[in-house]
Amino acid sequence: MQSTRRDFVKSSALALGASVLPFPQNLFGATRNFTPIRRNVGTFEGRGGTIGWLISDDALVVIDSQFPETAQACLEGIQDRSSRGIDFLINSHHHGDHTAGNPVFGPHVDKIVAHRRVPELQKRSAERRGTEDEQVYASVLFDETWKVDVGDETLSMAYYGNAHTSGDSVIHFEKADVAHMGDLVFNRRTMFLDLGAKGTSKGWIDVLESIYNDFTDETIFIYGHANPAYDVTGTREDLLAMRDFLTGLREHVEAGIAEGKSVDDLLVSQLPMFEMYNAADETSGLHRNIRTIHTELTGDS
Ligand SMILES: [Zn+2]
Repeated sequence: MQSTRRDFVKSSALALGASVLPFPQNLFGATRNFTPIRRNVGTFEGRGGTIGWLISDDALVVIDSQFPETAQACLEGIQDRSSRGIDFLINSHHHGDHTAGNPVFGPHVDKIVAHRRVPELQKRSAERRGTEDEQVYASVLFDETWKVDVGDETLSMAYYGNAHTSGDSVIHFEKADVAHMGDLVFNRRTMFLDLGAKGTSKGWIDVLESIYNDFTDETIFIYGHANPAYDVTGTREDLLAMRDFLTGLREHVEAGIAEGKSVDDLLVSQLPMFEMYNAADETSGLHRNIRTIHTELTGDS
């Protein structure tokens, strides 16, 4: 049944010729969402945080799992490309748009790996939402760094400190020199800072600078999310752009607090120098970001 559907997916994609159909409006475009980057490493874009993958004859690694429907499409695309089981599923952090597809990948995965705090944050979030039954948790946990040889690639993970949450990993395919940033970069778009999970904008700024210094201009980075006008992959200059946006947000809110303004007085539609951060369908994104930073800096929620 599944192979029949996959055959149909392939022939439909062929029949559609060169047109690129956006996911998820057209599920038949699913296999087109695989984009190779370098040395058997690439991305899958569906709904939620960008999935990273390593697919070779002797290694299969998936980073993040999106939501069940797109996880299924991704899994089928992987199975089209390899008959191997998945050696490692990595969760870059606990958010639902990166972990809700874990149950789909779970039966095909040897080990799920994440930072130590990911399962507890994921469980707490699931309890709040009443989705405990839908969770599959990482079983291999690390505190500072974790490293493994898989096929002819070396996979390493590192925790840099509290930032987007308190459990964000950077995942590096060392030989390909491709690094998955999870949600440590929202590429040129407004962000989500999870104060409830002990995220911090100050920590996030420091973390981005540390990561920038640990990699080179040759490294290709994968981002959890991007402004539609920008890519979900890029170079380390994007990390500094993200740092600058966070810094600009903080300076805007700090200046307003110093002038005795209320948070509502701070809700601008654009920050000077950061016009693209209120783009496309995110008309309220910048306002959310200003409110979050204000809460962080004042302690008022
Ligand atoms: Zn996130």
